[in-house]
Amino acid sequence: METKIYQIKKDAADHAAIEEAAKVIRNGGLVAFPTETVYGLGADAQNPQAAEKIYAAKGRPSDNPLIVHIAQKEDLSKAAGEIPKAAALLAEAFWPGPLTMILRKQTSIPKETTGGLDTVAVRMPDHPTALALIRRSGCLIAAPSANASGRPSPTLARHVAEDLNGKIPMILDGGEVGIGIESTIVDLTEKEPVILRPGYITGSMLEAVIGPVKLDAGILCADASVRPKAPGMKYRHYAPRAEMIVVEGRMEQVVEKINALADAMRAQNRKTGIIGTDETISSYRGDVAFSLGSRADAEEIARRLYRILRELDESGVDIIYSESIAAQGIGQAVRNRLLKAAGYQTLAPDENSGGWKIVS
Ligand code: AMP
Ligand code: MG
Repeated sequence: METKIYQIKKDAADHAAIEEAAKVIRNGGLVAFPTETVYGLGADAQNPQAAEKIYAAKGRPSDNPLIVHIAQKEDLSKAAGEIPKAAALLAEAFWPGPLTMILRKQTSIPKETTGGLDTVAVRMPDHPTALALIRRSGCLIAAPSANASGRPSPTLARHVAEDLNGKIPMILDGGEVGIGIESTIVDLTEKEPVILRPGYITGSMLEAVIGPVKLDAGILCADASVRPKAPGMKYRHYAPRAEMIVVEGRMEQVVEKINALADAMRAQNRKTGIIGTDETISSYRGDVAFSLGSRADAEEIARRLYRILRELDESGVDIIYSESIAAQGIGQAVRNRLLKAAGYQTLAPDENSGGWKIVS
């Protein structure tokens, strides 16, 4: 299959390419499109065969549900069977925006879209191209991130093409996305709201609107017996091809440790990639070193993370050592993605022995 790539200017929401893309969606096909978080791979959410095509193109496990995207708040009732007060309040506060809500599903949403669950994930994206595509298609659009399953999510149309060229008919190229990590997912089907995936909208932002919100236990640990409630969170995810280890500790300690590890790898003829920050990057001796940005600008770090993971892959490194990011504000989401990319392999100073220990 030939994959057509059309460039869409942000202010040109009436571009003819969007009309063509809307037709592809209406006819049960797939279109990759920009959102404010990452690129999505869209299909008609109410057409089971169309939803199945998403799993096939991505190589995604069929128990990992898709997020249903709407273009106006009133359409929430087309996807969700019940709309609790908290959902209405959160939609009012954060939509359009990077917040996905888990609700009881409407009967018209097929199990193919929800990975067999009775619940549905819904979001209204804050991106003119995404909104125009949904509106013009006349559909609700089911869309996970537009990467091959397990790979870092795409923040540029080029990343989508790397993973899906020849497998989907169309990519709408809207340039680099604004946020760079996936939406916050909050489950509103339990007694107390639970964050299943951290994102740009933080727990305290949610709490300011609806009161106490819990964090799913599966998010922060590698223990396989603690099953995350968002099925997608259990897979090795957001991951580069090379092995990756996150190194924790005081900054000078971390730089020294990563340099020692890189030297040891060089002695074995293994190529090392390093993920640092503007504050430390010039101190590294790895074969390839990328800065996530300044620690003073967590949003920039979020925007650059996936692109750097992909660039490290392109540079053909055998192993990646990364600094860690403090779990504050959007830092919590960045830290979550870093740990998942590393399969939770972390090295931290061992207070008792004065050496280092693997924590996972
Ligand atoms: P992606 O858009 O690729 O980031 O994937 C969608 C994410 O939403 C995955 O982590 C899914 O497991 C999660 N998700 C979608 N629907 C549900 C649902 N009904 N319940 C829990 N998690 C969901
Ligand atoms: Mg994804």
